[in-house]
Amino acid sequence: MTTIRTVTGDLRAAEVGRVDCHEHLFQVTPLLPGDDLTDEAASTTEAGYLARSGFDAMVDATPFGLRRRPLALLHASRTARLLIVATTGAHRSEHYADQSWVLELSTDDMVARFRADVIDGMPPVDRPQASEKRTDARAGVLKAGIGYWRIDAFERRVIEAVGEVHRETGCPVMVHTEFATAAHEVLDLLHQDGVPPDRVVLAHVDRNPDPGLHAELASRGAYLGYDGAARARSAPDSVILNCLASVVAAGHAGSLLIGGDVARATRYRAYGGMPGLEYLGTRFLPRLRKVTGDAVVETIIRTNPQRLLMTDLLEDVRALDTRGEGRGDAGAGDEPQGRASGSGST
Ligand SMILES: [Zn+2]
Repeated sequence: MTTIRTVTGDLRAAEVGRVDCHEHLFQVTPLLPGDDLTDEAASTTEAGYLARSGFDAMVDATPFGLRRRPLALLHASRTARLLIVATTGAHRSEHYADQSWVLELSTDDMVARFRADVIDGMPPVDRPQASEKRTDARAGVLKAGIGYWRIDAFERRVIEAVGEVHRETGCPVMVHTEFATAAHEVLDLLHQDGVPPDRVVLAHVDRNPDPGLHAELASRGAYLGYDGAARARSAPDSVILNCLASVVAAGHAGSLLIGGDVARATRYRAYGGMPGLEYLGTRFLPRLRKVTGDAVVETIIRTNPQRLLMTDLLEDVRALDTRGEGRGDAGAGDEPQGRASGSGST
């Protein structure tokens, strides 16, 4: 495993720098009415705010069928100078309540689409008829979603399809969980389908800030996605920070990832809301540094995501044309590995 597949090309791990592991630049879902992320200029501006807050890269966690806008993502990455790893696979069933054709996709159809998103590039728009037309923006993460103590038939097919594409590409798997319920169960299913736990990140585990459960999941090898900061109605940041500190004390700093998962237009500054994507870097990270120290923070935002995001994909020559265009200045101190030197990356 050597290559991380971003929308602007393939990179060696160290080249991606500091990673926010869960955001959305474009998304439309019936679960967030009035919060559509569809404005290309505004989402690009917001991506720039994230870059300026100290991140070199983000995972855009919007999967298949939720208006992920690959060309706009590509443009935003270059304009904002923020590397973006895009996502294929599918969310939990409720996100497709108004698109029954997605819920009816067979496992084989999903495999073909998810595979093509990684290998050939995502289509400009996800439609019921599989598109021949593909953009240059390729996905580097596979997503599955499960409900609250529920893995339904659709979600089970998504897990199977994601497993098959993982076996071929080595791309990591992100699982949307509801309050970390059924986390052990989904790790079991993925493992049966050929995805070892150490290639899986369980998103939103901090919505259930139970350090004992988190340590168990980390002991199995899984990555823990902490992405619930700035949600005072659910839990204060202090609860998330204390839980994270307990997981670190239990010896699992190497399993932690952070993201903002802000995901709503009303929370994006560029759409007129607050606190924006920069909250993670400007408000949450300084507190995390006080709790864990700088070395652990570097592990969480640099070492762990770089390890998770590596794939078995061979570096694509197309990457050489685009490499460097999406890079943030903040990563310039990294030593590029191998042939990257002199290819235009800063
Ligand atoms: Zn999300």
